[in-house]
Amino acid sequence: MEGTIIDIKRFTLHDGPGIRSTLFLKGCSLRCAWCQNPEGLDAALRLWHLERQCIKCRSCEATCPVDALRVGDEQDAFVIVNHDRCTACGECVEACPTGALAFDGRRISAAEAAATLLRDREFYLQSGGGITISGGDPLVQHEFALEVLGACRKEDIHTAIETCLFGDWQVLEGFIPLVDLFIVDLKIADETMHEEYTHRPNGQIWLNYALLADRGVDLLTRIPLIPGITATESNIHALAVSISRTRPDARVELMNFNPLAVHKYELMNRSVEFFAGMSPLREAEVETLMRVVEAEGLTVVREQKAQRRVQEAGR
Ligand code: SF4
Ligand code: SF4
Repeated sequence: MEGTIIDIKRFTLHDGPGIRSTLFLKGCSLRCAWCQNPEGLDAALRLWHLERQCIKCRSCEATCPVDALRVGDEQDAFVIVNHDRCTACGECVEACPTGALAFDGRRISAAEAAATLLRDREFYLQSGGGITISGGDPLVQHEFALEVLGACRKEDIHTAIETCLFGDWQVLEGFIPLVDLFIVDLKIADETMHEEYTHRPNGQIWLNYALLADRGVDLLTRIPLIPGITATESNIHALAVSISRTRPDARVELMNFNPLAVHKYELMNRSVEFFAGMSPLREAEVETLMRVVEAEGLTVVREQKAQRRVQEAGR
């Protein structure tokens, strides 16, 4: 079957042990205000107009068969895409001489994705690495993700997924036989605040977390440190208490805020207002939050390459 992906990155080092390749799927159920990979939010391909590359030649104007482009009559963008009409046929992309029109991903078959991921099998075996499916969230295109994982498992490759855990337990449960490591993202303990910043409640997420923990799967829990929102002592303490009750031996990775993602919002002509004045936490602040997590008996894993991760997922 076919799926939509942002990209496949080879030789990644941070989404699981050893040398890995990471498949970034499109489609996510949450709408986190700070999303570091906004091109992964929608499962469908989305057309970007890159204003800085546009030479206003109007070559794209007449190509669209469904009248989804408006050209030249807007103050802040020369080309406006009507995403509800766009069928992602690609004709305007072909017509643009400067690459100012581009999709935020591509369609690929599960077989082709698996073949690309397996290209570096020898490196995985030598380094204790493998493949990771991230996103977006693998639960959204779960059938596609499972087909890719199944093909990798046949080759005895270590497999991991990174998920926000928002989805039906039956869907998540289907991953258990094919996944060696679950990297799960938990963000905000308070239910009202979680809904405010991710546009989804967190009850199902905690239920899935508990059910996964009950199954004894290998679990790495990640918390993004978003200044003033997730990265407060009260939120980290509340998350650590709940994690420790559910999985007393949990490993927790604190992921510092990365401002590089803001560039993607600019490319996509999306508002960057949310990020105004926001910068990564200082080392001492991260250390303080680490102590809060450790005080609940949990093991803290320091992330070191989040910055590169955003760059790798970016386009
Ligand atoms: S991708 Fe196709 S449908 Fe979408 S705007 Fe371009 S020409 Fe129109
Ligand atoms: S064809 Fe490309 S460069 Fe020309 S107006 Fe359209 S988007 Fe801009």
